[in-house]
Amino acid sequence: MGKAVVFVIDRFSEPVHIQRLVAGVKRPKSIKMLYSLLADLSNVIPGTSVFFYKRRINEPQSERGFVGEFVAISDPYECVEDIFTDTGIIYGKCPYCGVLYADKFDDQKNIVCDNCREPLRGHLLPLRVSLNVKRLYERYLDDNHAYIDITDKGRLNTLIFRKIYGPGRERGVAPILPEEAEKIRRLLQRMESSRANDKIKYIPQQKPFTCSNRTEFQVFIEQIFSNINKKSGEVLYEFMLEFYITYHLGRLHRDLKTNLDDIFRPISDIEWFGNQILFGIGGDKSDLLILYKDGKRRYRADVVELKKGAISEEDVGQAYKYLYWIGQLVTSNIYPNIGDVFRIRPIVVGKQLKRGFSFHPKVMNVDIPYPRKNIRVISDPPEVWSYVVDKSENTIYFERIF
Ligand SMILES: [Zn+2]
Repeated sequence: MGKAVVFVIDRFSEPVHIQRLVAGVKRPKSIKMLYSLLADLSNVIPGTSVFFYKRRINEPQSERGFVGEFVAISDPYECVEDIFTDTGIIYGKCPYCGVLYADKFDDQKNIVCDNCREPLRGHLLPLRVSLNVKRLYERYLDDNHAYIDITDKGRLNTLIFRKIYGPGRERGVAPILPEEAEKIRRLLQRMESSRANDKIKYIPQQKPFTCSNRTEFQVFIEQIFSNINKKSGEVLYEFMLEFYITYHLGRLHRDLKTNLDDIFRPISDIEWFGNQILFGIGGDKSDLLILYKDGKRRYRADVVELKKGAISEEDVGQAYKYLYWIGQLVTSNIYPNIGDVFRIRPIVVGKQLKRGFSFHPKVMNVDIPYPRKNIRVISDPPEVWSYVVDKSENTIYFERIF
């Protein structure tokens, strides 16, 4: 799979990430947001390409931006060990009060523990992935070259909307499309050969960081099942369902008790998947996006809407509204290496149909006029699936209900 992700870092954590070959994100305080982040992290499977994005604290543009490229050599895990280098530290837990959750900046931009308020020398990043170097480009790729420069083809579609919307939209880790990863690679190469921007100061050590006592994500999976609503059989938060599906999508080849491959079929054609994919200025997004490839050409996208409870007609109709934009999102950067017809399949996963649910599926199509040919984007009939929790097996399985 051509999976790639971007981890956000800053100058406090940068030396540790690069020297000790480890990516990491903060652990949100709320359970709901923790599961949102676990879903994001589940995009990382061994072999996934990893880029860092060094966000601004107070450095000039030439000293920040994208850094790459690394490759994940582990599943994501939780680890409370601190990681040191000569120039930096990443904490696993607060050295004063022992909490794992996110630190914050005080008014003077110093890092402090959000619980005991003691000053810290680095960030608390207990959710981690071990890395190897794939090819370390010498220099940073700044925002202007990445987002504005039109002399390189394509656009970082799924990231630019987060850029426009700023801090609230930022994620500690975000999946990117294979063609976006390609663009970042091309531009990193260009920064290196043109000697634009500053050199990255840190050199990876020989051996990647490994945690001696790590907590596997299976533990978080199990916690989903101890939080099921007894009456309704619903998960506590929608993000728990998102985490469950994202985690398993990347690991379907392992010996898992789930029938996700009934929904996302044929699994052998899955080229890529990602959660929370933004494709519009207004924050329009797809909870899950799955791309399929037949040998060389991408031919279909599943656009998935997740609901923890009842599913309405609007939930099913929503996917149609986005046909044109999703169609462009997943074809424009790989054109012309794509067939004349591209299909989009709307899928809703929830608990049950709303009382009185009635929906009349229609086939819709739009033409996207590219310079050398039009690509026709056609919607498949929508599918609605119910998730069923099996507490005896700690499994969720899926049944088609529409
Ligand atoms: Zn503390």
